[in-house]
Amino acid sequence: MKTIFQKIIDREIPAQLAHEDEHCIALHDINPQAPVHVLVIPKRLIPRIAGAGADDQALLGHLLLSAAAVAKKLGLEGSGFRIVINNGRDGGETVPHLHVHVLGGRPLGWPPG
Ligand code: AMP
Repeated sequence: MKTIFQKIIDREIPAQLAHEDEHCIALHDINPQAPVHVLVIPKRLIPRIAGAGADDQALLGHLLLSAAAVAKKLGLEGSGFRIVINNGRDGGETVPHLHVHVLGGRPLGWPPG
């Protein structure tokens, strides 16, 4: 069964895209936790970072570089931003298709909740 993100990648349901290339999409989170909250999602399914392997190394690098590029595109380079990957139950993962959160536009507390 497809995840919500796979359905968005396959254009079965709409989303507000901030970026797309051969390997990933970036979309604005439907329930933003900061003024800017974007998810960078690989087109090839990796369920979560704990299940990623050596074959995924280039794609994982691409996701991080894309996250930084999207943050810059959305005006966060000067003020700063945070990149988050939630993994598993205690990590707060709710969609089993790897995604990199990019959050910014306000000061972010530390430690996270
Ligand atoms: P996580 O809890 O790390 O698995 O993150 C899943 C994120 O996906 C949450 O921040 C949700 O708000 C977001 N989300 C779920 N459905 C959609 C959707 N249709 N469009 C955009 N973001 C979504």
